Amino acid sequence: MKTIADFNFQNKKALIRVDFNVPLNEEQQVTDATRIEAAKPTIIKVLEDGGSCILMSHLGRPKGRDSQFSLSHICEAVSEIIGVQVTFVSECVGEKAREAVAQLQTGEILLLENLRYHPEEKSGDKSFAKELASLGDIYINDAFGTAHRAHASTAVIAQFFPESKCFGSLLASEIVNVNKVMSHGEKPVTAIIGGAKVSSKITIIENILDKVDHLIIGGGMAFTFVKAQGGSIGNSLVEDDKQELALAILEQAKAKNVEVHLPLDCLIAEAFSNDAATKVCPINSIPDGWMGLDGGTQTRELFAEVILKSKTILFNGPIGVFEMPTFAQGTMDVCTALAQATAAGAFTLVGGGDSVAAVKQFNFGEKVSYVSTGGGAMLEMLEGKTLPGIAAIME
Ligand code: AMP
Repeated sequence: MKTIADFNFQNKKALIRVDFNVPLNEEQQVTDATRIEAAKPTIIKVLEDGGSCILMSHLGRPKGRDSQFSLSHICEAVSEIIGVQVTFVSECVGEKAREAVAQLQTGEILLLENLRYHPEEKSGDKSFAKELASLGDIYINDAFGTAHRAHASTAVIAQFFPESKCFGSLLASEIVNVNKVMSHGEKPVTAIIGGAKVSSKITIIENILDKVDHLIIGGGMAFTFVKAQGGSIGNSLVEDDKQELALAILEQAKAKNVEVHLPLDCLIAEAFSNDAATKVCPINSIPDGWMGLDGGTQTRELFAEVILKSKTILFNGPIGVFEMPTFAQGTMDVCTALAQATAAGAFTLVGGGDSVAAVKQFNFGEKVSYVSTGGGAMLEMLEGKTLPGIAAIME
């Protein structure tokens, strides 16, 4: 795996695919700069070596050229975070872009206009990729958030840099950290899979059954398993057509010696509302008209116990409807147990959409080993898929 550490960028123009698809407010100001911060180590390495940076990214989903999605809006934020005044060019290919690149001096940074102004970016057009490639000497992919897309700038472009392409430090660390769970996790390895639906997590579960010792199933998806086993789940979330699949998973887990931990009890509510009447009941005897929206005390204790005896832990998907304070305790307790396990030497990875949001919301981001930056990309890695943006660098 070639990374920026394998290159000296002195007098080189590094063409870096970053993920600057950041949220903007109505005044077009950056409201969350996490993704810009995440690209900083790669940019700094190039500059410190004595090179220059050409940054390329997408922003939003423009249909053609649309100033609302111009990367010019984020130029100042990037300058402030990197500590170097960034020059913006209102094109990413063509004469104007080439001229701006020609003027780029050592130590300078150029930010190209939104790649998705050109439909060729998403369609993975080879000539568009070639034109982009002509701008730089070395290609760095540091855009984990789009690594699962076979777009011109994320994958197709790599073929024009047979000897001079590598992973940026963010993308490299995402790969290294996923592999710590998926390839060589210290045992016992535990996966906590929660969230709303079995259907969206099924491929992950099937893939990780070969890699884990314990599988904790929480969140709304647990009720499909409980119902399939004959439990009464009231009005809880369920995917009736996935009940057979749920039973098949439990069989597969047994055959592979994976211990599955389903919730024992749950916090039920009369309505999907923070202010609804609530009570705790066994997971398999939820009265009609009530729905399970969080783990109960026994469930929370069981999950914490499993987490605390594990050496490698993946957290993907919340235990309850954590967005509402009344139903946040189950997810918060998992975060607390993850922090304790991490402090005791376990490796803990939080990856995929809502669990990342939960860990950040409860301020546990610094207390776990690694929080992934890519939602869809991380899910596909956990599903065992080869991401085009990663494969293109490896080839
Ligand atoms: P996912 O995107 O599949 O990881 O699902 C995350 C969502 O699942 C969050 O928005 C949670 O509010 C929701 N969720 C977790 N537990 C439950 C539950 N028991 N019933 C309904 N939704 C839930």
